[in-house]
Amino acid sequence: MTDTSSAFSRRNLLGGLAATSAVTTAAPRVGAQTPAAKTAAEQAQAALKDAKATKLVLLGTGAGPGGQGPERTRKMTSHVMLSNGAAYVLDCGIGVIDQYAHTGIPFPALRSIFITHHHADHNIEYGPLLVIGWINGMHLDVLAFGPPPLKQMTEDFMRAYKTTVDFWAEDLKMKPLATVEVQEVSAAGPVTQDDNVKVSAIIVEHPPVKPALGYRFDFKDRSIAFSGDTAPSEAVAKMAKGADVLVHEAMYVPAMETYIRGEIAKGRPIKFEDLMAQ
Ligand SMILES: [Zn+2]
Repeated sequence: MTDTSSAFSRRNLLGGLAATSAVTTAAPRVGAQTPAAKTAAEQAQAALKDAKATKLVLLGTGAGPGGQGPERTRKMTSHVMLSNGAAYVLDCGIGVIDQYAHTGIPFPALRSIFITHHHADHNIEYGPLLVIGWINGMHLDVLAFGPPPLKQMTEDFMRAYKTTVDFWAEDLKMKPLATVEVQEVSAAGPVTQDDNVKVSAIIVEHPPVKPALGYRFDFKDRSIAFSGDTAPSEAVAKMAKGADVLVHEAMYVPAMETYIRGEIAKGRPIKFEDLMAQ
């Protein structure tokens, strides 16, 4: 993102949806001509370098269980906010590690991770981000926030990868990553606060996932709200009121129809009506 203060116009939205590069930058400046040679990653790096204001980079805007094949032009959901040198990651779909690295934000800058809900396209690379982050200098006091059972998931993942982590720790003379501090969030209200940001959560409608969260980040210079995955929700409207940026889930129904019919044609035992209703 080069400038959050520019309106989140239809043009910007379509530009974001059509982006095919490694990192999707949110709200490109209206009228700015992007040289074809400059990748989205390079643009993001340029925008983040020496940034004074809080920045948001949409690392992945693809969603759903529709696979992560080579034909996919967008990674699964993940975003990073950079404020005053501290990075806050929201959601960890497949691609979060590579996409984070593409922004040029150093791993030691990673301060907190927030998970909206426990669908794989939002959390599957959470554990790997911790391990790869750690080996790249992430501080061990990084905090994680998300719905239950995030604590148990974190502990189980760390148990599964203890041997792996310990080999690198021994090799590289590093303090092993044992676990990270997790704060589970299961109700609307304040989540956390530090010297940069005040974070609050809301409950959104995403059956059968309970709870599914939306978050609002009130930085000193701007506010960024995330709907998470949700059906139309009064809570989201209320949360996003007055925010500078709202990152909202959207679904393009004709593409869903095409995808479902394609899967049925491939012989998958699914019913068109069931999936469309979902
Ligand atoms: Zn979901």
